[in-house]
Amino acid sequence: MNSPAPVLPPLGSYPARTYRLGIMGGTFDPIHYGHLVTAEQAREALDLDLVLFMPAGVPAFKQDRHVSSGEDRYAMTLLATAANPAFVASRFEIDRAGVTYTVDTLRELRARYPENVELYFITGADAIMDIVSWHNAEQIGDLATLIAATRPGYDIETAKAHITAAGLNIDVHYIEIPALAISSTHLRERIAEGKSIRYLTSESVIGYIRKNSLYLPVEE
Ligand code: NAP
Repeated sequence: MNSPAPVLPPLGSYPARTYRLGIMGGTFDPIHYGHLVTAEQAREALDLDLVLFMPAGVPAFKQDRHVSSGEDRYAMTLLATAANPAFVASRFEIDRAGVTYTVDTLRELRARYPENVELYFITGADAIMDIVSWHNAEQIGDLATLIAATRPGYDIETAKAHITAAGLNIDVHYIEIPALAISSTHLRERIAEGKSIRYLTSESVIGYIRKNSLYLPVEE
Protein backbone atom coordinates (compact mmCIF):
# COMPACT_ATOMS: atom_id res chain seq x y z
CA MET A 1 0.00 0.00 0.00
CA ASN A 2 1.48 3.37 -1.00
CA SER A 3 -0.40 5.69 1.33
CA PRO A 4 1.54 8.57 2.85
CA ALA A 5 2.43 8.34 6.52
CA PRO A 6 -0.57 9.76 8.34
CA VAL A 7 -0.34 12.44 10.95
CA LEU A 8 -1.82 10.86 14.03
CA PRO A 9 -2.89 12.87 17.04
CA PRO A 10 -1.00 12.45 20.29
CA LEU A 11 -2.85 10.27 22.78
CA GLY A 12 -0.78 11.12 25.82
CA SER A 13 1.94 8.93 27.28
CA TYR A 14 1.06 5.59 25.75
CA PRO A 15 2.70 3.20 28.22
CA ALA A 16 0.80 4.46 31.26
CA ARG A 17 -2.65 2.97 30.63
CA THR A 18 -5.12 1.74 28.05
CA TYR A 19 -6.26 4.40 25.56
CA ARG A 20 -9.53 4.21 23.68
CA LEU A 21 -9.49 5.72 20.21
CA GLY A 22 -12.77 6.25 18.37
CA ILE A 23 -12.74 6.34 14.57
CA MET A 24 -15.82 8.04 13.19
CA GLY A 25 -16.17 6.70 9.65
CA GLY A 26 -18.47 8.31 7.12
CA THR A 27 -18.73 10.15 3.84
CA PHE A 28 -19.71 13.38 5.64
CA ASP A 29 -21.23 14.96 2.53
CA PRO A 30 -21.92 17.14 4.44
CA ILE A 31 -21.21 16.57 8.12
CA HIS A 32 -24.19 17.51 10.35
CA TYR A 33 -25.30 17.61 13.98
CA GLY A 34 -26.43 13.95 13.85
CA HIS A 35 -22.79 12.93 13.29
CA LEU A 36 -21.50 15.24 16.02
CA VAL A 37 -24.07 14.02 18.57
CA THR A 38 -23.27 10.41 17.63
CA ALA A 39 -19.56 10.91 18.24
CA GLU A 40 -20.10 12.79 21.49
CA GLN A 41 -22.47 10.18 22.90
CA ALA A 42 -20.21 7.32 21.78
CA ARG A 43 -17.24 9.11 23.38
CA GLU A 44 -19.15 9.41 26.64
CA ALA A 45 -20.68 5.90 26.62
CA LEU A 46 -17.41 4.14 25.80
CA ASP A 47 -15.10 6.49 27.66
CA LEU A 48 -13.12 7.27 24.50
CA ASP A 49 -10.02 9.43 24.85
CA LEU A 50 -10.27 10.86 21.35
CA VAL A 51 -12.51 10.56 18.31
CA LEU A 52 -10.95 10.80 14.85
CA PHE A 53 -13.47 12.02 12.28
CA MET A 54 -12.40 10.31 9.10
CA PRO A 55 -14.10 11.28 5.84
CA ALA A 56 -13.82 8.36 3.41
CA GLY A 57 -11.58 9.17 0.43
CA VAL A 58 -13.37 7.20 -2.27
CA PRO A 59 -16.39 5.66 -0.49
CA ALA A 60 -16.53 2.02 -1.55
CA PHE A 61 -20.28 1.88 -2.16
CA LYS A 62 -20.66 5.33 -3.76
CA GLN A 63 -18.52 5.00 -6.86
CA ASP A 64 -21.62 5.24 -9.08
CA ARG A 65 -22.70 8.65 -7.85
CA HIS A 66 -21.32 12.15 -7.34
CA VAL A 67 -19.60 12.74 -4.01
CA SER A 68 -18.08 16.12 -3.09
CA SER A 69 -14.30 16.23 -3.16
CA GLY A 70 -12.34 14.82 -0.25
CA GLU A 71 -10.90 18.30 0.38
CA ASP A 72 -14.38 19.85 0.71
CA ARG A 73 -15.61 17.07 2.98
CA TYR A 74 -12.46 17.25 5.08
CA ALA A 75 -12.69 21.07 5.34
CA MET A 76 -16.30 20.85 6.56
CA THR A 77 -15.34 18.13 9.04
CA LEU A 78 -12.48 20.28 10.33
CA LEU A 79 -14.80 23.27 10.78
CA ALA A 80 -17.51 21.23 12.52
CA THR A 81 -15.14 19.54 15.00
CA ALA A 82 -12.81 22.47 15.72
CA ALA A 83 -14.31 23.48 19.06
CA ASN A 84 -14.21 20.04 20.73
CA PRO A 85 -10.77 19.10 22.12
CA ALA A 86 -11.74 15.39 22.05
CA PHE A 87 -12.50 15.50 18.30
CA VAL A 88 -9.84 15.46 15.58
CA ALA A 89 -10.54 15.74 11.85
CA SER A 90 -8.34 13.28 9.99
CA ARG A 91 -6.99 13.28 6.40
CA PHE A 92 -6.01 9.61 6.82
CA GLU A 93 -8.48 8.25 4.26
CA ILE A 94 -8.72 11.18 1.85
CA ASP A 95 -4.94 11.11 1.42
CA ARG A 96 -4.91 7.39 0.57
CA ALA A 97 -5.13 6.54 -3.11
CA GLY A 98 -7.78 4.17 -4.42
CA VAL A 99 -11.07 2.96 -3.02
CA THR A 100 -11.41 3.42 0.73
CA TYR A 101 -11.68 0.12 2.56
CA THR A 102 -12.21 0.26 6.31
CA VAL A 103 -10.09 -2.84 6.84
CA ASP A 104 -7.05 -1.00 5.36
CA THR A 105 -7.61 1.97 7.67
CA LEU A 106 -7.92 -0.20 10.75
CA ARG A 107 -4.88 -2.28 9.81
CA GLU A 108 -2.77 0.86 9.35
CA LEU A 109 -3.95 2.42 12.59
CA ARG A 110 -3.37 -0.86 14.43
CA ALA A 111 0.19 -0.98 13.08
CA ARG A 112 0.93 2.63 14.01
CA TYR A 113 -0.42 2.65 17.56
CA PRO A 114 0.88 0.45 20.36
CA GLU A 115 -1.14 -2.45 21.77
CA ASN A 116 -2.55 -0.47 24.69
CA VAL A 117 -4.50 1.75 22.26
CA GLU A 118 -7.89 0.12 21.61
CA LEU A 119 -9.75 0.98 18.40
CA TYR A 120 -13.51 1.66 18.19
CA PHE A 121 -14.98 2.10 14.70
CA ILE A 122 -18.19 4.16 14.80
CA THR A 123 -20.58 4.57 11.90
CA GLY A 124 -24.26 4.38 10.93
CA ALA A 125 -26.14 1.12 11.59
CA ASP A 126 -27.29 0.91 7.96
CA ALA A 127 -23.69 1.04 6.83
CA ILE A 128 -22.73 -1.67 9.36
CA MET A 129 -25.66 -3.80 8.16
CA ASP A 130 -23.87 -3.94 4.79
CA ILE A 131 -20.62 -5.06 6.43
CA VAL A 132 -21.23 -8.55 5.08
CA SER A 133 -20.18 -7.22 1.67
CA TRP A 134 -17.25 -5.08 2.85
CA HIS A 135 -13.72 -5.90 1.76
CA ASN A 136 -12.18 -8.48 4.17
CA ALA A 137 -15.10 -8.00 6.56
CA GLU A 138 -14.15 -11.01 8.67
CA GLN A 139 -10.95 -9.26 9.80
CA ILE A 140 -12.62 -6.02 10.88
CA GLY A 141 -13.98 -7.41 14.14
CA ASP A 142 -10.47 -8.51 15.15
CA LEU A 143 -9.09 -5.02 14.60
CA ALA A 144 -11.72 -2.85 16.26
CA THR A 145 -14.89 -2.85 18.31
CA LEU A 146 -17.77 -1.81 16.05
CA ILE A 147 -20.24 0.85 17.19
CA ALA A 148 -23.41 1.24 15.11
CA ALA A 149 -25.45 4.40 15.56
CA THR A 150 -29.19 3.89 15.07
CA ARG A 151 -32.21 6.09 14.74
CA PRO A 152 -35.07 5.47 17.25
CA GLY A 153 -37.19 2.49 16.20
CA TYR A 154 -34.34 0.83 14.31
CA ASP A 155 -34.75 -2.96 14.16
CA ILE A 156 -31.53 -4.06 15.86
CA GLU A 157 -32.49 -7.75 16.02
CA THR A 158 -32.95 -7.96 12.24
CA ALA A 159 -29.62 -6.19 11.71
CA LYS A 160 -27.87 -8.65 14.07
CA ALA A 161 -29.53 -11.65 12.39
CA HIS A 162 -28.41 -10.36 8.97
CA ILE A 163 -24.77 -10.29 10.08
CA THR A 164 -25.00 -13.67 11.82
CA ALA A 165 -26.71 -15.26 8.80
CA ALA A 166 -23.75 -14.23 6.66
CA GLY A 167 -21.51 -16.28 8.97
CA LEU A 168 -19.65 -13.22 10.26
CA ASN A 169 -18.52 -13.46 13.84
CA ILE A 170 -18.55 -9.71 14.50
CA ASP A 171 -19.71 -8.16 17.74
CA VAL A 172 -21.55 -4.90 17.06
CA HIS A 173 -22.58 -2.48 19.81
CA TYR A 174 -25.66 -0.44 18.96
CA ILE A 175 -26.34 3.05 20.32
CA GLU A 176 -29.58 4.92 19.70
CA ILE A 177 -29.13 8.52 18.61
CA PRO A 178 -32.38 10.51 18.22
CA ALA A 179 -30.48 13.32 16.45
CA LEU A 180 -29.82 10.89 13.57
CA ALA A 181 -33.21 11.90 12.19
CA ILE A 182 -30.91 14.36 10.42
CA SER A 183 -29.18 12.93 7.34
CA SER A 184 -26.71 14.25 4.76
CA THR A 185 -29.16 13.32 2.01
CA HIS A 186 -31.82 15.50 3.62
CA LEU A 187 -29.40 18.43 3.89
CA ARG A 188 -28.35 18.11 0.24
CA GLU A 189 -31.99 17.98 -0.87
CA ARG A 190 -32.89 21.05 1.17
CA ILE A 191 -29.97 23.03 -0.27
CA ALA A 192 -30.90 22.02 -3.83
CA GLU A 193 -34.46 23.22 -3.15
CA GLY A 194 -33.20 26.54 -1.79
CA LYS A 195 -34.37 25.69 1.75
CA SER A 196 -32.64 26.51 5.01
CA ILE A 197 -30.29 24.03 6.72
CA ARG A 198 -29.75 26.30 9.72
CA TYR A 199 -29.67 24.32 13.02
CA LEU A 200 -29.06 21.05 11.14
CA THR A 201 -25.31 21.64 11.01
CA SER A 202 -22.90 24.28 12.29
CA GLU A 203 -22.89 27.86 11.01
CA SER A 204 -19.29 27.39 9.88
CA VAL A 205 -20.26 24.40 7.72
CA ILE A 206 -23.24 26.30 6.29
CA GLY A 207 -20.90 29.19 5.46
CA TYR A 208 -18.46 26.83 3.73
CA ILE A 209 -21.25 25.22 1.69
CA ARG A 210 -22.51 28.64 0.54
CA LYS A 211 -19.06 30.02 -0.19
CA ASN A 212 -18.21 27.00 -2.36
CA SER A 213 -21.67 26.62 -3.95
CA LEU A 214 -21.94 22.97 -2.87
CA TYR A 215 -25.06 20.87 -3.49
CA LEU A 216 -26.73 23.32 -5.87
CA PRO A 217 -28.70 21.81 -8.76
CA VAL A 218 -26.62 21.39 -11.91
CA GLU A 219 -27.79 23.83 -14.62
CA GLU A 220 -28.95 22.08 -17.82
P1 NAP B 1 -23.79 5.23 4.08
O1 NAP B 1 -24.18 3.94 3.45
O2 NAP B 1 -23.88 6.47 3.28
O3 NAP B 1 -24.59 5.45 5.43
C1 NAP B 1 -25.63 4.62 5.84
C2 NAP B 1 -26.36 5.37 6.91
O4 NAP B 1 -25.49 5.59 8.04
C3 NAP B 1 -26.84 6.73 6.46
O5 NAP B 1 -28.08 6.97 7.05
C4 NAP B 1 -25.78 7.66 7.02
O6 NAP B 1 -26.27 8.95 7.29
C5 NAP B 1 -25.38 6.98 8.31
N1 NAP B 1 -24.00 7.28 8.71
C6 NAP B 1 -22.89 7.18 7.94
N2 NAP B 1 -21.79 7.48 8.67
C7 NAP B 1 -22.24 7.77 9.92
C8 NAP B 1 -21.61 8.13 11.12
N3 NAP B 1 -20.28 8.22 11.21
N4 NAP B 1 -22.37 8.36 12.22
C9 NAP B 1 -23.71 8.25 12.16
N5 NAP B 1 -24.38 7.89 11.04
C10 NAP B 1 -23.65 7.66 9.95
O7 NAP B 1 -22.33 5.08 4.70
P2 NAP B 1 -20.96 5.57 4.11
O8 NAP B 1 -20.80 7.00 4.52
O9 NAP B 1 -20.83 5.20 2.68
O10 NAP B 1 -19.92 4.65 4.92
C11 NAP B 1 -19.87 4.71 6.33
C12 NAP B 1 -18.50 4.17 6.77
O11 NAP B 1 -18.41 2.78 6.43
C13 NAP B 1 -17.33 4.86 6.09
O12 NAP B 1 -16.28 4.96 6.99
C14 NAP B 1 -16.98 3.91 4.94
O13 NAP B 1 -15.64 4.00 4.52
C15 NAP B 1 -17.28 2.57 5.59
N6 NAP B 1 -17.57 1.57 4.55
C16 NAP B 1 -16.59 0.68 4.24
C17 NAP B 1 -16.78 -0.22 3.21
C18 NAP B 1 -15.69 -1.20 2.89
O14 NAP B 1 -14.68 -1.24 3.58
N7 NAP B 1 -15.85 -1.98 1.85
C19 NAP B 1 -17.99 -0.23 2.51
C20 NAP B 1 -18.98 0.70 2.86
C21 NAP B 1 -18.75 1.61 3.88
P3 NAP B 1 -25.57 10.24 6.63
O15 NAP B 1 -25.72 10.06 5.14
O16 NAP B 1 -26.31 11.37 7.20
O17 NAP B 1 -24.12 10.17 7.04
